[in-house]
Amino acid sequence: MIYDRSNVFARILRGEIPCKKVYEDQYALAFHDINPQAPAHILVIPKGPFTSFADFSSQATVEEIAGFVRAAGLVARQAGVEDSGYRLLANHGPDSHQEVPHFHIHIVGGRPLGKLLA
Ligand code: 5GP
Repeated sequence: MIYDRSNVFARILRGEIPCKKVYEDQYALAFHDINPQAPAHILVIPKGPFTSFADFSSQATVEEIAGFVRAAGLVARQAGVEDSGYRLLANHGPDSHQEVPHFHIHIVGGRPLGKLLA
């Protein structure tokens, strides 16, 4: 899949549209989901132009992957859900209903989340 530079997360990264930022470093940007599904619902995206987990896991450098994972862990800790628990979720492709073609993970928590696929 070719990366679409006009996708909404690319526009957030370029500062063209606002987000409620919670964390940023050289590898990742994290911000609140615009349509939260739980008291804590944060999206973490890599800075690079990766379309999905498949693209990121195969094309990103080891440094980009490590930086992204570290950032995600930090964001979850800062969100205050490490003790109560949280779910990491990444959608790839049509069956997953991925809406935004820039790789992202959801960090969801702050309430009991039930089974994986409700
Ligand atoms: P996906 O289905 O691609 O895994 O999830 C995309 C997520 O991005 C959805 O949960 C949706 O609410 C969120 N989202 C879509 N557009 C925006 C936006 O402009 N700003 C923010 N903060 N979140 C968005």
